[in-house]
Amino acid sequence: MALYNVDGIVIRVRNFQEADKIVVLLTREEGKVEAVARGARRPRSRLAAATQLFSRLRAQLFSGRSLDTLSQAEIVESFRQLREDLVRMAYATYACELMDALLPERQRHEAPFLLLLTSLHLFNEPDLPPEPLLRAYELKLLSMLGFRPSLTACVGCGTEAVQQNGSVRFSPVLGGVLCPACSAEGEGAVRLSLGALESMKRLLDGDIRRAHVVRLGGEVAAEVDQALSAYILVRTERRLKSKEFLDTLRV
Ligand SMILES: [Zn+2]
Repeated sequence: MALYNVDGIVIRVRNFQEADKIVVLLTREEGKVEAVARGARRPRSRLAAATQLFSRLRAQLFSGRSLDTLSQAEIVESFRQLREDLVRMAYATYACELMDALLPERQRHEAPFLLLLTSLHLFNEPDLPPEPLLRAYELKLLSMLGFRPSLTACVGCGTEAVQQNGSVRFSPVLGGVLCPACSAEGEGAVRLSLGALESMKRLLDGDIRRAHVVRLGGEVAAEVDQALSAYILVRTERRLKSKEFLDTLRV
């Protein structure tokens, strides 16, 4: 069995058998990896603290026939504030679950790891509003995985999607804005005001560390949420529990 070392973040944990846990790690080196942590539910286990959601680990694994095993783990960052603030924890939990839902296993790209790591640092900052950060995270993650929404050209015909009455239609199924001609056939399309569209463009292409300067409030926040949530649902094909929980906190 081959041993390997990773820099990874725990993005999902579940109990397994009597005393074990199964963890899903998003790693810098190997992409998304699932592994069993034997004995991790025993109070004195060296793996007990390490195998918690959000923990960033220096970990050693060995590959097995069906499942890899987490043999050693050292906590590099624990993001303690995220665990102590319910709202921030809800945002970060959803960020992890979305990553898990969208990212296939063992894709060796460093970008998703770096995006999640940066986002956890930012969610961990008590002074930064989490909403624009989450939207930037969603948009950047979708882009990274080949689902970049088209926010300028019509996703139906490619022409410039000129607005009508100060708004455009966004198609969650097609993943972009529609010109007036294509709007007629855009089933399930939602309305985006120009303010909401502009915010999405800035969050998609700007530096995520500056996401907080994009003001997302009231009607604009609701429109962005409606469009993005519908688009993400098309990609994940199921409602994420953590998103439903987050929505109950935000009303
Ligand atoms: Zn069109």
